[in-house]
Amino acid sequence: MQALHITPGNMPPECEVLRQEVRDFLAQEMPAYSKVARAKNWTGKDQTFSRKLAERGWIGMLWPKVYGGGERTNLERYVLLEELLAAGAPVSFHWVADRQSGPLLIKYSPHVLAPQIVPRIVRGEVAFCIGMSEPDSGSDLASIRTRATKVPGGWSITGRKVWTSGANMADYMIALVRTSDRSENRHAGMSQLLIDVKQAQTQGLEIRPIQTQLGGQAFCECTFDDVFVPDDHLIGEEGQGWQQVTGELKFERSGPERFLSSTQLVLEMLDAADPGNPAQAAALGRIVAQYACLRQMSQGVALMMAEGQDPAVATSVVKDQGALLEQGMPDIAHALFADGLDPDSDLAQVLDYLALSVPSFSLRGGTREILRGIIARGLGLR
Ligand SMILES: Cc1cc2nc3c(=O)[nH]c(=O)nc-3n(C[C@H](O)[C@H](O)[C@H](O)COP(=O)(O)OP(=O)(O)OC[C@H]3O[C@@H](n4cnc5c(N)ncnc54)[C@H](O)[C@@H]3O)c2cc1C
Repeated sequence: MQALHITPGNMPPECEVLRQEVRDFLAQEMPAYSKVARAKNWTGKDQTFSRKLAERGWIGMLWPKVYGGGERTNLERYVLLEELLAAGAPVSFHWVADRQSGPLLIKYSPHVLAPQIVPRIVRGEVAFCIGMSEPDSGSDLASIRTRATKVPGGWSITGRKVWTSGANMADYMIALVRTSDRSENRHAGMSQLLIDVKQAQTQGLEIRPIQTQLGGQAFCECTFDDVFVPDDHLIGEEGQGWQQVTGELKFERSGPERFLSSTQLVLEMLDAADPGNPAQAAALGRIVAQYACLRQMSQGVALMMAEGQDPAVATSVVKDQGALLEQGMPDIAHALFADGLDPDSDLAQVLDYLALSVPSFSLRGGTREILRGIIARGLGLR
């Protein structure tokens, strides 16, 4: 068995300057949002807020200046995200594009799609969604059946995607599709296509929002019936979709969003705690220690990535342990504060919201069992 090493470290001074700028900005902006709105964390959506971040250069801050990006460091972006998430800022409008779609377009279509679209992401104008999962293909993504068939000038897509977060409000989807038949190599024959969602809806893309237990319509089912996509919307190379997607999932799994989604509930518990109550003091002390430890691990991963390492196993450990910690918060809050809790209080409302949303934390971005499989393989256990 191999050991897992995460080297802790401190953020360089320029990061702390930025941290203060972000805190000052949030101190002005966040009072407008209720506690429940903040509990939505990175799934809360407000394009006006995203545009304000854009004006400060806080979308696409790593990207080349030629696309409007800021050419700042990965660590500065980490600090920005940490502050936004800790405050419960409504970042969902630009989140997917900033985290993974923009980097993907820059890497795999630097001369065609990136110049057209990335500057619009940087300005907070366009939202993206991820079309990977299908009704029978979630964890086993290589079994997707949505098919793109070659036609003159482009591709014709037929099939179905599901659990596509925000598809009903997105401008673009990046879809993983099959461009040739399945073969012995399960990971061959897939490609990524950029789909202009509004245009595709006029041509055979049907988007059906799915009601969740939270009452909103966070996900959609997307049915493609002979939807045309032009040749230049192929991202990267035909048949290389699997390799491209695996790189994309690293961005999706490594950020501080993987342990900060229940922060508002922790803050509400700290506000409501009785300093003379030893059970509350012990439980809250333990939570703060656990968060401090995960933060060290997550920052350590960010520092390792900044040094050019690829800490895929460490990333999976942070996501797995982060989801466990976040998912435990509603039960702890219930055990400590439910007795006599005013149902209209911020604590009660944030608790209600998170109790219904935490089950999804160990599914989205890769399930717990799949991550643990990756960890076991990385440690040489399977
Ligand atoms: C909040 C949320 C947002 C999402 N947003 C998107 C999105 O925007 N775009 C998108 O494409 N998808 C999205 N998804 C879908 C998500 O990626 C899938 O739900 C996830 O990959 C699991 O797939 P599944 O639901 O088909 O479950 P399955 O793969 O059917 O898994 C069911 C259960 O079996 C377990 N299991 C499966 N295979 C194995 C194995 N080999 N070993 C051990 N256990 C296994 C799983 O861990 C799980 O517990 C989202 C999901 C959630 C919850």
